[in-house]
Amino acid sequence: MNRRTCLSCGGRSYSSYSGTNWDCPYCGEDLGDVQNELSDMLRDPLEEYEQAIEGFDEKH
Ligand SMILES: [Zn+2]
Repeated sequence: MNRRTCLSCGGRSYSSYSGTNWDCPYCGEDLGDVQNELSDMLRDPLEEYEQAIEGFDEKH
């Protein structure tokens, strides 16, 4: 899954497609040259936070 943010309207669109034929679903802007953003950002940040706490405890 890839994510791209429209430079024109700021809308975020998601797709498994990673090519250059990608139009913004909100305003129709061509996002073909926009870089894919990491899909990991969709993960729950709390989960990674709890893992970080566990690692901290092991060091002490
Ligand atoms: Zn747009």
